[in-house]
Amino acid sequence: MSTRAERLAQPLMTDVVTATAEKYGVCIRPFTMEVGDLDTGELKYIPIPCGTTIESACGPCARKARALRMTQCREGWHLDEEPAIDKTPPTRDHTELMTYRADLVAAYRDSEEEDLREEIHSVDEELRALGVRGRLPSVDAPIKRAPQRSTKRRQEAPNLPRRKVERRTVGREYAGGFRPSMFVTLTCDTYGPVRNDGTPINPDRYDYRRAARDAIHFASLVDRWWQNLRRVVGWDVQYFATIEPQRRIAPHLHAALRGSIPHEVLRQVTAATYLQVWWPPHDELVYRDRLPVWDNGHFVDPDTRRPLMPWAEAIDQVPQPAHVATFGTQVHSKGILGGSDQAGRHIGYLTKYSVILLLHTGWHDRFPPPPRRRAYASGHRA
Ligand SMILES: [Zn+2]
Repeated sequence: MSTRAERLAQPLMTDVVTATAEKYGVCIRPFTMEVGDLDTGELKYIPIPCGTTIESACGPCARKARALRMTQCREGWHLDEEPAIDKTPPTRDHTELMTYRADLVAAYRDSEEEDLREEIHSVDEELRALGVRGRLPSVDAPIKRAPQRSTKRRQEAPNLPRRKVERRTVGREYAGGFRPSMFVTLTCDTYGPVRNDGTPINPDRYDYRRAARDAIHFASLVDRWWQNLRRVVGWDVQYFATIEPQRRIAPHLHAALRGSIPHEVLRQVTAATYLQVWWPPHDELVYRDRLPVWDNGHFVDPDTRRPLMPWAEAIDQVPQPAHVATFGTQVHSKGILGGSDQAGRHIGYLTKYSVILLLHTGWHDRFPPPPRRRAYASGHRA
């Protein structure tokens, strides 16, 4: 007989399974996918790796993902010739089927007849069989109309020179055959002085509100920055980037950028880039304890039962942006040569595990990110 303490000290079966999976480098928390055999009708369950990028969630998958990211980063950063993408142009079969599908969808939206729906699905299967990739528009999706916006809402970068963007992603070669690429870091603005541990020195004067809003919209601001940069330099700049929190929690961007751009240009683009957020006012918390309730297709006030204004309508009535996000003035950039120790070190910064808030994987042209497997998993976690 063993004592309770001895029994408690023994490893749990799940721990043993996890450790064994770790040892052999396979996923420790796979999804199960239900697969039907079309001939026999038999159902099978196949384990699919979770594919996480976070090491604490699944070490083997995170290490695999990191190795892939490092390869993507290294191979894309210092390319010296344009990556070629050989896409087969659509054939007549493709376009005819797609036209037929569009007619079916229109008919289905009018009549909602189940037969039409099935026919659409069989057309989808045919298109897939013909090798068409990507998502087909859903049969049931409502047709979205773009909201009418006045022209004053268009976001421009007025103080920047503008060139037509060439179809080029590779940087120029310099005398002596050098073709450096860049490592760039952008930060958020300052919201008040902070201590070494990142906490505000004067919490009453620290602009928490702006810090939070800048963080929420940082990714969109970054998108705007790339657009502006491409217009200014006149070629289709490609990058591999991560957004991480600094010690003061504000996000910042590290990017490997293909080709080289003068620091002064990067600084000007950063200073001129801003993002207007056309959200309805959201300074005040309106519902604290009694929340709106869902009733007959819309949210209503819990007391008056009056419908709340829908988002799209509220946005149309906004007189001015609720927030304008900008970068901080500090811009770090340096030129880095392919294959150097420095390049390896910076690829390391870009492919850390745990701190990444958002990853812009790949170079949009040559290394597409791996497919998101989760979408296909019909089962649940084993
Ligand atoms: Zn895993």
